[in-house]
Amino acid sequence: MRARVVKGTCKPHAAPPSQGFPPSYSRMVLPAPTPPPCPFEKRFPSQLVRDDAFFMSLAFNQAIDAWRRDEVPIGCVIERDGEIVAMAHNTVEAAHDPTAHAEMLAITQAAAAIGDWRLENCTLYVTKEPCPMCSGATLMSRLKRVCYAVPDPKMGCLGGATNLSELARVNHRVEITAGGVLEPECRELLQAFFRLKRAAGGTDA
Ligand SMILES: [Zn+2]
Repeated sequence: MRARVVKGTCKPHAAPPSQGFPPSYSRMVLPAPTPPPCPFEKRFPSQLVRDDAFFMSLAFNQAIDAWRRDEVPIGCVIERDGEIVAMAHNTVEAAHDPTAHAEMLAITQAAAAIGDWRLENCTLYVTKEPCPMCSGATLMSRLKRVCYAVPDPKMGCLGGATNLSELARVNHRVEITAGGVLEPECRELLQAFFRLKRAAGGTDA
């Protein structure tokens, strides 16, 4: 039996959303990214020692991948029981998406990999302290611990500018390891990126 179609509620040939934009927008071709050459090498930590430095090294490598794609070099890894369940870096520029931070992408990846949005036994490693959005996401996903390399006194919301995990009535608290793990390396990577971008006249940061 054929499904009954009620007139006015079914639009099998509805225009795709892109047709709502001006033609010039939908056909716009962006210039290829031209990041300054990255002077940093990736790290190759021993697979046998799964400590904070090991996982942060892989987050650092993700940050280098971000640099090579002309994204702000921040990388993130999520670990559970010694295994990596997510790895990501910023894709804000390529995706034209202000929410495409490394932590947000990694949290989504981890939840998909585990099959549960509750990341209760997971630790998130990120090269810079999470911003307000990502700090909120670490609480909403019930991460066990967040380890970040570079504190951010301006926008960091897990101890830098403020600490969302210490809100009086919040129902989940995340353990925080603030700074100290590959901190100089991750800081220098970020500072060098912005220094070189400014020298090239290519960033407002
Ligand atoms: Zn963020």
